[in-house]
Amino acid sequence: MKVSSNFDGGNIRIISTKHVDNIELQIRPDNRADFLQWFYFRLQGVAGYPCRIRITNAGNAFSKEGWENYNACASYDRMTWFRVPTTFDGQVLTIDHTPEYNAVFYAYFAPYTYDQHLDLVHAAQRFPQCILESVGQTVEGKDIDLLILGEPAENKKKIWVLGRQHPGESMASWFIQGFLDRMLDEDDPVSRRIIERAVIYVIPYLNIDGGIRGNMRTNANGMDLNREWENPSKEKSPEVYYTLQYMLKTGVDLNLDIHGEEGIPYVFASSIQGIPDFTKRLASLQEHFTMNWESITPDFQTEYGYPGDRPGKANLSICSKNIAQRFNCLSLTIEMPFKDNDNLPDPQYGWSPERSEHLGASLASAILSIIDEI
Ligand code: ZN
Repeated sequence: MKVSSNFDGGNIRIISTKHVDNIELQIRPDNRADFLQWFYFRLQGVAGYPCRIRITNAGNAFSKEGWENYNACASYDRMTWFRVPTTFDGQVLTIDHTPEYNAVFYAYFAPYTYDQHLDLVHAAQRFPQCILESVGQTVEGKDIDLLILGEPAENKKKIWVLGRQHPGESMASWFIQGFLDRMLDEDDPVSRRIIERAVIYVIPYLNIDGGIRGNMRTNANGMDLNREWENPSKEKSPEVYYTLQYMLKTGVDLNLDIHGEEGIPYVFASSIQGIPDFTKRLASLQEHFTMNWESITPDFQTEYGYPGDRPGKANLSICSKNIAQRFNCLSLTIEMPFKDNDNLPDPQYGWSPERSEHLGASLASAILSIIDEI
C-alpha cells in the first residue's frame, strides 16, 4: 500500500500506512500560513480492501463546520468524482471506502489543475470575439490569464468575473468553465445579446501558485488574496495588485467573484449591504439580480447565507465589497457548497463539477436580466 501527493494540487502528510483499516494521514497547512482544509492524494495497492483513512488533524481545519455532514470525493479516473462515506468526531475525519480498483484518488473537492486552466483559456481564445491576455504575474512568475469577450467600446458595460482567489475552492474553476462554454456559444441568444451590450473580463484562476501547492486559502507568500483589496502589494499580493490595476483602466459595472463555502450547504451571494455607499440603486440591483437568478435555477437561493453586515461595517479588504464601493457598482461574492445543495441533494455525487458548470452557465441569464440596470 502506498500514499502519494506529489502532483499539481496534491496535499497530504503520511503518518502511518501499516494497516488498510487504519491509514493515518494529516493535511499539510498552506505553505506560509496556518490554514488547512484542502486535501488531495492517491492511494495504491488497495483493490477490494475495506480501507479506513483517518485524517487526524482535521479538527484544526479552517472550518470545522465544513466536516459536518461532509462526504469526501473519490475518483479512479479523475473524470468522475463520487462521494464516499465520511465521518467527523470533532478532531478526526474518517473516510471508509472499499476501492474497486488498485489506485484511487481522494480530494476535498474535484480538483481543477493549472493544466486544465491552460487548456480552458487557450481553447477559449480560438473563438471569435475572445482574446487571451495576462494582467501580470503571480508571486512565483505564472501569468495571470485574462479572457476578454467582446469588442471593447466606451458605451458597453464592463463586466468582471473572477475565480480561485482561494485556491482550494476548485468549484470556482468548474463554474467559470460552464460560464465560458455558454458565453462562447454563438448559437446562444442570451450570450449574443450580452456580448452586444457588454465586454466581459474573466480571470478564471487568480491564485495559481496556491493551487499548484495544494494550499487551501493563500498564495505563495501566505496572503489571503480576498483580504488584500484595500491596498494590494506588488510584492506580497501581485495577483490582486495587477487585477485591480486593470480594473481601474477598464472601469467596472458588474463584478462577480466566484468561491466555495465549507460549511453552508447552499449556493448563495454574499450581500454588499454594509458598504459605506450602499445606495438605493445598489440595493435594488442586488435584489433584482439575486431574485432573478433564483427564478432561473433552483440551485441558487436567497434564504440561507452569511448574516448581512450592519450599515457601514463591511470589510472593504474583501474583493466584492471593495469593488462595489470603489466603482459604485453591483459586486457580489458567489458561494457554492463543498457538500451539496440541501434543497436539491444528490447522495451519490453531492455538489459536483457538473453542477458547478451548470450554475456557471445559468449566470449568463442572470446577467442579461439586469444588463440595462447596471
Ligand atoms: Zn473563498
